Amino acid sequence: MENRERIVILGAGESGTGAAILARSKGFDVFVSDAGKIKPFYRDLLDEYQVIYESGGHTERLIINATEVIKSPGIPESAPIIKLLRKKEVQIISEIEFAGRYTNAKKICVTGSNGKTTTTSLIHHMMRKAGLNVGMAGNVGRSFALQVATEAYDYYVLELSSFQLDGMYQFKADIAIMLNITPDHLDRYDYNFQNYVDSKFRVTQNLTEEEYFVFCSDDEITIKELEKIVNRAEQLPFAYQKKEHDVAWVEHDEELHIEFDDVDFSMSVQELALKGRHNTYNSMAAGIAGNVLKIRNDVIREALMDFQGVEHRLETVTKVHGINFINDSKATNVNSTWYALESVKGSTVWIVGGVDKGNDYSELYKLVENKVKAIVCLGKENDRVLKAFSGKVESIVESGNMEEAVKAAYYLARDGETVLLSPACASFDLFESFEDRGRQFKDAVRSL
Ligand code: ADP
Repeated sequence: MENRERIVILGAGESGTGAAILARSKGFDVFVSDAGKIKPFYRDLLDEYQVIYESGGHTERLIINATEVIKSPGIPESAPIIKLLRKKEVQIISEIEFAGRYTNAKKICVTGSNGKTTTTSLIHHMMRKAGLNVGMAGNVGRSFALQVATEAYDYYVLELSSFQLDGMYQFKADIAIMLNITPDHLDRYDYNFQNYVDSKFRVTQNLTEEEYFVFCSDDEITIKELEKIVNRAEQLPFAYQKKEHDVAWVEHDEELHIEFDDVDFSMSVQELALKGRHNTYNSMAAGIAGNVLKIRNDVIREALMDFQGVEHRLETVTKVHGINFINDSKATNVNSTWYALESVKGSTVWIVGGVDKGNDYSELYKLVENKVKAIVCLGKENDRVLKAFSGKVESIVESGNMEEAVKAAYYLARDGETVLLSPACASFDLFESFEDRGRQFKDAVRSL
């Protein structure tokens, strides 16, 4: 089918390349523009599908004549090309919005500030175990658009970041999951927290009585927002301690329950593969989704028990001389580190630091007092960590690279104790990414 409407795609990474391939397969006139260098992998893909592209800059006249622009989530509103397109009133959407138009698959959409990848992967694992024909996309794995173009899934589990949600208008989730909301990425939201909250809540737009909204009723921001907006979907709240209306909760710190409509599910928290209170929330969210999808109780239980976890998220690396090493490199804000410290048992040597986005460490004081015996700072600038924790632990030392940090932590820890890498900071001062930081940690631990 020929369709001469012009689709311009800004950014040729995973989402942009996928969008280009899908747009091409639908017969659009497609042009891809990337201000930077396009990775060879994506360049090859664009060539293979005969997509026209440019890199190293944006040629305005080839962009402003678009019927619609698909923007990579990494490009901020402040970019000159976006400002220009806004001025010319060209519609800008995200790859998810675009791909959503071309699939009838049911979509389970996971958003929140923390826990998205974990919960998305857990639900995907559960659905596969149940024998459903399901793909996983969004912020994880291959792009949604590419999969819509090349696969024929009946279901998708989509991890949605606020940046993706910003470019979504007509897209409708079948099950929308909001895990939690804490301040993050405020630099992209004019330092206005409400803008970020609004963006997250776009996951609920277009929901009708036919759809489901799964959320954490312990999360005050979520609850406050729900009081303000119209949300017609069936509400399925989960909480640690049951309140009225909650459909999932934990009884006596021991048993996870899910009850709504004709659902009656329970299992021991001990049996959950993912440890820590934050992961119990994630397991509850996944369990509710599984029940909405009418997956059998024994399959849900088994999936929650044998899920392998996701790399760099509270990942147990190994024990060396009885010291347990945990890689939580993905913890790039205070909130996720709070949950990591909450979940560790016994005395801990904590490796923390990196690019601090204005952290308020006082939220961690209580946990640090109870659990942390020593701190190893791992960053180019450690002043803020040093200032926040000096005098609050037995010892606090600085390190300049991962090998030094791991050796220092190993020296400070004793048999039966834990070394936890949970930096509460971004990684870009010393590492390429949080994945690089986590891998270097694991390598250093394994060569102790
Ligand atoms: P996201 O994809 O939202 O960034 P991840 O699943 O990658 O979330 O986890 C990011 C970090 O947050 C990890 O350090 C993890 O241990 C922590 N975390 C996971 N789930 C939650 C949760 N429900 N609440 C708070 N922190 C969480």
